[in-house]
Amino acid sequence: MSIKTRFAPSPTGYLHVGGARTALFSWLYARKHGGKFILRIEDTDLERSTQESVDAILEGMTWLGLEYDEGPFYQTHHFDRYKEVIQQLLDQGDAYYCYCSKEELEQLRTEQMANKEKPRYNGKCRDLSGPKGDREAVIRFKNPVDGAVTIPDLIKGDIVVANKELDDLIIARGDGTPTYNLTVVVDDMDMKVTHVIRGDDHINNTPRQMNILKALGAELPKYAHLPMILGPDGARLSKRHGAVSVMQFRDDGYLPEALLNYLVRLGWSHGDQEIFSIDEMVEHFALENVNVSASAFNTEKLLWLNHQYIMNGDPAHVARHLSWHMGELGIDPSSGPSLVDIVMAQRERCKTLVEIAAASVYFYKDFDAYDEKAAKKNFTAGSDEVLARLHDEFAEVTEWNGEALHQIVVNLAETMSLGLGKVAQPLRVAVCGSAVSPAIDITLSLLGKEKTLARIQRAINHIKNLN
Ligand code: GLU
Repeated sequence: MSIKTRFAPSPTGYLHVGGARTALFSWLYARKHGGKFILRIEDTDLERSTQESVDAILEGMTWLGLEYDEGPFYQTHHFDRYKEVIQQLLDQGDAYYCYCSKEELEQLRTEQMANKEKPRYNGKCRDLSGPKGDREAVIRFKNPVDGAVTIPDLIKGDIVVANKELDDLIIARGDGTPTYNLTVVVDDMDMKVTHVIRGDDHINNTPRQMNILKALGAELPKYAHLPMILGPDGARLSKRHGAVSVMQFRDDGYLPEALLNYLVRLGWSHGDQEIFSIDEMVEHFALENVNVSASAFNTEKLLWLNHQYIMNGDPAHVARHLSWHMGELGIDPSSGPSLVDIVMAQRERCKTLVEIAAASVYFYKDFDAYDEKAAKKNFTAGSDEVLARLHDEFAEVTEWNGEALHQIVVNLAETMSLGLGKVAQPLRVAVCGSAVSPAIDITLSLLGKEKTLARIQRAINHIKNLN
């Protein structure tokens, strides 16, 4: 049997990290078993679904590199098929028209609550025959009354639900549109999905879906329900805990592989290994090793992982992602050093691409002002002379390389009987605008001769104006 998994988001917002983890686990399972992974957009809720959200899901999947083998399929393209299946269930006697009014149902609910019973439909219309003229009706699935459904969950083990706990759920609304449980069942069946891997917030739907599949004579898929992701306070991870949208993590300077690595470890483990390449994830992934209980999102750990990927990843790959962030800052990377060199120079000190980008602007663009504290400390009386001498010496350099430049700084400190810091720091502030930068030889060689000389001259003028 060839394995088929699916990710089936509803396009009613951004791609949430919880959704991304579901997608990742489904993707990994398919890849590991040489199967197929489908993307299905569940857009039948016409009021809440938006094109913007569809685009955000597709963008998130692309950014994460979770390629799908089939799709994206759109449920709104399948309305005829859903109608056909609803008719089939009616014809078979597995579904029926229900004419109960909202008020009637509301009253039933109130009574049940008052009797401390679980609110459920009482099956009043279950044995009526045929549609009653033009009266508006919903269509309900005739859930079996006896016996039980066992979900052989690949993560949680067998879950047994008695059929008497399940009432007859609505599969078509009064206007004829199908409901979620019906559309999911039809598509999982038609698309020959073998493994339904999804959040355990869907666990209540599963026995109902299994009963509909059985009524349709379809083969049941295997189910795996993933525990939720929680915020640090133990509540389900949501916007109020900070970033939860996949694209927000991109905007905040994370690499997609760091986020994937973080998400794979969230609720899954392979020994005590923390860092997994995509190939290693595929190799080792097993649903049996997914935790049964929920796990909490830990931004510090994600940040640590991101730094590992920035430091140890292929600099050219990191540079490609950095390029987007430079663009966000209005920087044209061709107006300065290669981004690969920037990555090499900054990767030890910066944990995110946003930090690298922000710390590298001066390589491409003149800064507006000096950092006040740094200027006050380093642009002291006499520092203009130091800078003037550096300017003259640098101007003579024909081969602009770090080693030669470093030597000039060291020699000048010696000649002027100054500590190295008294020469290197004013120079650093002059060329970068602040007292923080990579080693001065690397900084100068990346900056290039022209920018270095112009900025030293600017600093000399600035210091002169102070006095
Ligand atoms: N569309 C559903 C959701 O976004 C998921 C359906 C499923 O995975 O069965 O929650």
